[in-house]
Amino acid sequence: MWMRRNQIVRKLTLGVVTTVLGMSLSFSALSATPVETHGQLSIENGRLVDEQGKRVQLRGVSSHGLQWFGDYVNKDSMKWLRDDWGINVFRVAMYTAADGYISNPSLANKVKEAVAAAQSLGVYIIIDWHILSDNDPNIYKAQAKTFFAEMAGLYGSSPNVIYEIANEPNGGVTWNGQIRPYALEVTDTIRSKDPDNLIIVGTGTWSQDIHDAADNQLPDPNTMYALHFYAGTHGQFLRDRIDYAQSRGAAIFVSEWGTSDASGNGGPFLPESQTWIDFLNN
Ligand code: MG
Repeated sequence: MWMRRNQIVRKLTLGVVTTVLGMSLSFSALSATPVETHGQLSIENGRLVDEQGKRVQLRGVSSHGLQWFGDYVNKDSMKWLRDDWGINVFRVAMYTAADGYISNPSLANKVKEAVAAAQSLGVYIIIDWHILSDNDPNIYKAQAKTFFAEMAGLYGSSPNVIYEIANEPNGGVTWNGQIRPYALEVTDTIRSKDPDNLIIVGTGTWSQDIHDAADNQLPDPNTMYALHFYAGTHGQFLRDRIDYAQSRGAAIFVSEWGTSDASGNGGPFLPESQTWIDFLNN
């Protein structure tokens, strides 16, 4: 019981401090919504650009697991985050294992509710296939293809929607061995219904091994590779990897980070977090 309560507290902390960031800068405080301002996003020369071909930075917040804290994923909270925090993207973390989508497919309804809210608010939304304890994305590859076929069919013409197809591969799962083959298949599934919306692919070691992805990139031109960091654990060595990956022309997206250490405990480590934010803004 103590373990259970402690786990819940830790997860709540994670949920509160977890945010989302992309690269380069441009958010206007005009009355136009983010999606009205930037429209369809794409990748150009390894950078995220908007419909006018101008570099754009997505900044926002990730939910925690919908199966635990889905109540906080709703139009009111998203509107407040947009208007008060200035977010232009929201990430919906739909766990696969841990009482997530695999055993409770109705969680997809919460994702649909979140997408509808994001569309009405003009906010970008990341649909996150949140593998974690299920460390290899191939474990539930069939379910991923079914899920993303439905999502791409529903939202393929919506500029709001971004697909994140494998949150954090881990446990010895490598880019070339497991992740890239999985991403090729799921990308084909998505692209049969949606030719262009952004796809984010997680990388090895809880989305830290972007250098492996940069060395053997996917053929899809609108794919970005995920880097995740927690400021109490991850510092300059991961920023160096971003520099390396970009030197190889790979588009990198930080779809999750936190001010704690990697377990969700400790901190907040604010100076290191600021160093990260300055780096990402640059
Ligand atoms: Mg599309």
